[in-house]
Amino acid sequence: TPLPLKDPTLLKSQCYVNGEWVGTPTDPVINPATGQTIGHVPRFGAKEAAEAVEHAGKAFKLWSKKTAKERSNILRKWFDLMIANTDDLGLIMTAEQGKPLAEAKGEVAYAASFVEFFAEEARRVYGDIIPQHRPDHRILVQKQPIGVCAAITPWNFPAAMITRKCSPAIAVGCTMVVKPAPETPLTALALAELAHRAGIPAGVLNIITGDAAPIGKVWCEHPTVRFIGFTGSTPVGKLLMAQAASTVKRVGLELGGNAPFIVFDDADVDAAVEGAMVSKYRNMGQTCVCANRIFVQDAVHDEFVAKFTAKVKALKVGNGVEAGIDQGPLIKPAAVDKVEAHVKDAIAKGGKVETGGKRSDLGQTFFEPTVISGVTTDMMVTHEETFGPLAPIYRFKTEEEAVELANATQFGLASYFYGRDIGRIFRVAEALEYGMVGINTGLVGTDVAPFGGVKESGLGREGSHYGLDEFVEIKLMMLGGI
Ligand code: ADP
Repeated sequence: TPLPLKDPTLLKSQCYVNGEWVGTPTDPVINPATGQTIGHVPRFGAKEAAEAVEHAGKAFKLWSKKTAKERSNILRKWFDLMIANTDDLGLIMTAEQGKPLAEAKGEVAYAASFVEFFAEEARRVYGDIIPQHRPDHRILVQKQPIGVCAAITPWNFPAAMITRKCSPAIAVGCTMVVKPAPETPLTALALAELAHRAGIPAGVLNIITGDAAPIGKVWCEHPTVRFIGFTGSTPVGKLLMAQAASTVKRVGLELGGNAPFIVFDDADVDAAVEGAMVSKYRNMGQTCVCANRIFVQDAVHDEFVAKFTAKVKALKVGNGVEAGIDQGPLIKPAAVDKVEAHVKDAIAKGGKVETGGKRSDLGQTFFEPTVISGVTTDMMVTHEETFGPLAPIYRFKTEEEAVELANATQFGLASYFYGRDIGRIFRVAEALEYGMVGINTGLVGTDVAPFGGVKESGLGREGSHYGLDEFVEIKLMMLGGI
């Protein structure tokens, strides 16, 4: 049965290159909740990847010459169209990705917020005039768009990871080639349709689907591409960075995390429980900023575990299009295998299952929301991102111990802690080796704040005015002989 869209023309089965829909639909897109095929998309490779770059290169010459206001107006239209089509975009997203419909619509709003923010920001890419070092010289600094940019995006945020990269790029005058994840191409292509309707000129935004490795290699090594932005796993990020070295490209990487979530004994425990629910169970635990390790101080440990477990037990699991569902399926059976491996390992090493702990009888992509207490640092969950609905809880005694445990990882994306003592808030926030620290909140992502990691979690920042830096080069004009 076709998706009940208000506008069925948003469901695409071809790639969007140079303002046209091209390619033969061959590869199925599967609904993870039902296993049903909901559409097909082309399998493009190296040749088409290079062609897309040629088109983006030509378009760059025109797009970069437009005024900031012209670019801003078109982005603003794209934003308006995304908001107007929220219901359909949400439905497409839930069908291919699995997150509950309300959450999918929330992502559409989040994705659109980047387009709105950078439409506004487009007009504030200011340069500088630096006081000269010699009387007969003048020093001018201008920011110019870097050129053609490539983006490779993951399946967990099918819309937002695209707009967070494309809208700052397009705002400053760059053009884009994009490859969405094979699991979630339909949301991406629907966004391209809306971009087209908004009047984004041919070649400015190109979206192709297909073989990741050859497409990625061509984009990394193509001299016309000047920036490659990637959100996904750390091994693929390292590969892209190595490949991009061949042409000394700038890279922006948003890679894996291993987020600590610390609850100190002076925390508002109910607020901490709420924050942990939001952080851990958003998108069924499949985000790189999901709490992966929950550390709770002695005095509030038992209260936290009891209250948190009660909330987790109340989560309703099912097909995300149905009313009242809190947790959908995981993206694919292999994702369930990983959660199960972490759970089994934790149990074997002495962890106590507070709730869940096994596959759900709803089907092979479902796992019961799980809480395990008594977790120790020798368990797999300590060192690897579970990327699923498992909340492992550790008990700790001192602030120093908590900070040390939190930092004992090669990752450094998001971290969270709850506590009220102002001295401790600053001490801990400054000591955490993370790009983002949520203090008395389980949510750090918004269009106006910089998102990104340190250590092996990545390079660069997305969103906020810092997010423009990736897409501009600083040009010095040293004017002599005055
Ligand atoms: P996950 O395991 O969560 O799917 P990946 O890092 O494999 O994470 O996927 C994120 C994105 O990277 C997807 O769009 C995927 O197709 C792409 N990708 C995977 N392998 C490669 C590769 N060798 N080169 C370029 N892109 C890749």
